[in-house]
Amino acid sequence: MFFHVIVTTECNLQCRYCFGESLDDFDESFGDDIEVDYALPGKINYDVELLEKFCRKDLDCVLTFYGGEPLLGANKIKQIMDNVEAKLFMIQTNGLLLDKLEPKYVNRFHTILVSVDGEEALTDYYRGNGTFIKVVNNLKLIKKNGFRGELIARMTIMEQTDIDKQVRWLLDNDEFSFSSVHWQLNAGFWGNDYQRRNFEPWMETSYIPGVEKLARFWVDQMEEEKGVVLKLYPLLGIANSLLRGEKNCFMRCGGGWINYAIQTDGYIIPCPTMWGMKKYYLGNISNTDPCKIKKIFVDQPPCTKCSILNVCGGRCLYANITKRWNDEDYSKVCRTVAKLADAVKAEVTRIQHLLKKGKVNIKDFDFIKYNGCEIIP
Ligand code: SF4
Ligand code: SF4
Repeated sequence: MFFHVIVTTECNLQCRYCFGESLDDFDESFGDDIEVDYALPGKINYDVELLEKFCRKDLDCVLTFYGGEPLLGANKIKQIMDNVEAKLFMIQTNGLLLDKLEPKYVNRFHTILVSVDGEEALTDYYRGNGTFIKVVNNLKLIKKNGFRGELIARMTIMEQTDIDKQVRWLLDNDEFSFSSVHWQLNAGFWGNDYQRRNFEPWMETSYIPGVEKLARFWVDQMEEEKGVVLKLYPLLGIANSLLRGEKNCFMRCGGGWINYAIQTDGYIIPCPTMWGMKKYYLGNISNTDPCKIKKIFVDQPPCTKCSILNVCGGRCLYANITKRWNDEDYSKVCRTVAKLADAVKAEVTRIQHLLKKGKVNIKDFDFIKYNGCEIIP
């Protein structure tokens, strides 16, 4: 099982798609039947020993530190890493405080997902001036100090992002090149934002054509002399399913069925965004067997009636439950999913040819699932 450990709800940035959106999201209610506890502790207030006992019951327990910004609770992270025997530790961080955590801890992370949106101007536009350079300096430092795990650039994207240009830049630039990239659309997570945004024109003229170009570029790289399968997670995840002939998939992020979150008070929820939603509390680490947590799947339209549910998996349990965007607006997001899947499908014959020639291996398409990359952006 995978668990996001919410270390703190505080953050040291005020990003446009998170803090900025929350200021404009006046509609705090999620409907009559979803009561939210807004009075949860700001940082972990359960005994780490409870987490140790909980995790010990699952030999495959993977813990991913999450926030807010988890490194604002670096001491708690160290205490957990010193006392809990997880199979793997991972972290999702904005990277600003990576220099404050001693290498003996940083180097134990199997994966670090760091929030970077692309080149400096774009990252700083979304995340605040000076963010990019500080993060990149920290990434250089942790490499120098011996970090050899997987470093994933985790982009949040919206209308200012040229996906093709920015992903390629992240893969190859003079500042800091990544070998793994994942992107997530800021779409369907907030109330009231669709009307004041320019989502549809952008997805039609920029995002969808960009994804198509990127899928071609991705397979072009497999054709090159070295034959490399780049870890571009949305493409990789879908291609993996198509090549292996998977007929169905559950929520690809794992939310609600294999990848849960642990609140600061020890209650278990399907995913970090469902923080405080009492209706979805699935037990507490003090009295729950991690291998027997109730599983929740998408059970509401439009996903339940969707012809590509077997490829998409439902995209996001939180979005499906909370319906922050109405059906018509959300259908635009679904169109991006369908187009992404089509872009990968269009390349499958070429990939199969390369597999046959031995240029790439089917194992090159494997990855650690539920590592925080949702696959469907
Ligand atoms: S494409 Fe849309 S409706 Fe279909 S499964 Fe995905 S999120 Fe649900
Ligand atoms: S995609 Fe949705 S359900 Fe999955 S982890 Fe992200 S917010 Fe949670």
